[in-house]
Amino acid sequence: MFRLKSLSMIDVNFDKKHIWHPYTSMQNPLPVYPVAKADGVYIELENGSRLVDGMASWWCMIHGYNRPELNQALTSQLDNMAHVMFGGLTHAPAIELAKLLVQITHPSLQKVFISDSGSVAVEVAIKMAKQYWINQGQQKHKVLCLRGAYHGDTFAAMSVCDPVTGMHHLFEGSMPKNYFAERPVCRFGEPCREEDLSNIKSLLDIHKHEIAALILEPIVQGAGGMWFYSAEYLTKVRALCDEYDILLIADEIATGFGRTGRMFACEHADIAPDILCLGKALTGGYMSLAATLCNEKVSDGISKNEGVFMHGPTFMGNPLACAVAITSINLLLDSPWQESVSNIQNQLTKELQSCLDNPAVNDVRVLGAIGVVEMEEAIDLTFAQEFFVNKGVWIRPFGKLLYIMPPYIINKEELSKLTQAISAFTKLA
Ligand code: PMP
Repeated sequence: MFRLKSLSMIDVNFDKKHIWHPYTSMQNPLPVYPVAKADGVYIELENGSRLVDGMASWWCMIHGYNRPELNQALTSQLDNMAHVMFGGLTHAPAIELAKLLVQITHPSLQKVFISDSGSVAVEVAIKMAKQYWINQGQQKHKVLCLRGAYHGDTFAAMSVCDPVTGMHHLFEGSMPKNYFAERPVCRFGEPCREEDLSNIKSLLDIHKHEIAALILEPIVQGAGGMWFYSAEYLTKVRALCDEYDILLIADEIATGFGRTGRMFACEHADIAPDILCLGKALTGGYMSLAATLCNEKVSDGISKNEGVFMHGPTFMGNPLACAVAITSINLLLDSPWQESVSNIQNQLTKELQSCLDNPAVNDVRVLGAIGVVEMEEAIDLTFAQEFFVNKGVWIRPFGKLLYIMPPYIINKEELSKLTQAISAFTKLA
């Protein structure tokens, strides 16, 4: 019989032969490092080395690993039920989580669809927008998207990602075709000029009758390039959506739960989307869970004339994931997270700035608990991973970007270890 104990020896050869890792080939996969456990901000490898985690496991472990409160939330919920179907049944964890989400997001967002991953939350959002228009008797099947965007890897989500980094050419013919405006050029903290919106406006002028919604990652374009753009741009895009009668979908899967210094990045621009996607840090990184919230305009528009929203995954509202999400959100609300994120921002700004002295570095930008060093040339991932592991940190670059978004509980020394490792890496170039 298979026992968990047998995992004490991590069979990396089996992994290499049989298990897909993200964005890898099965013929020549990139090396992977076997992890024995993780605690606080540390990832411990099987060989005993402890790495300061600069990635928060792709944005989600905001409270760090192995948090007693989150562990307890899961074990307590296990005694009640691990799972129960959501069709025709409901339960306290889903209700309590929805109450919290309605309370902490914009007051106009009142309806909550709980699903199982970020990509699904985006699928749900796009479907909501399209179903809204179908039920108004209008044929609006396109989405207006921004270049440089990333929204997930399922087909509808991919179809709204940047066409180049999202490799749309690979899936030519099997993916819905959408419209793409230029990525916002105006930086965070800077004003947005009329011409920054001219491309969006001309696309809207030509195609408004076909466009159901505009989708964007507010303020921070994440996996599409770690780009921080002007809050004024977001305010103006909201106004354009109103002017042209187009729904606005905000994908806060990466930015939500404090990462940019505000609980949600839309707050930088004081705007409300019609549809909001949440995921990643929703459970403090413990379990896969996502939510799509919408306003009553959208929910009434879909539901009138006996309309039903056509989505219902098996693990919708999973009680274990909801229970840990409730505890994670309460942990965040009870913590001085604004102060922690602002301290991280100040330290990153101070310690990464000198990288700019190196001509191999093109740009350094920091917002909230996100630090980015953009190199002139693409980085060799295998080499970089090994370099950082040898320095006792976990940093995984992509393209030309070295970036970190650590757990909020990281202390000054641990954060300096990350920035020093980045600085040392840039000096190799
Ligand atoms: N939207 C954004 C902004 C993301 O950063 C991601 C994940 N990197 C997703 C959607 C997709 O989420 P998931 O990986 O959970 O499907």
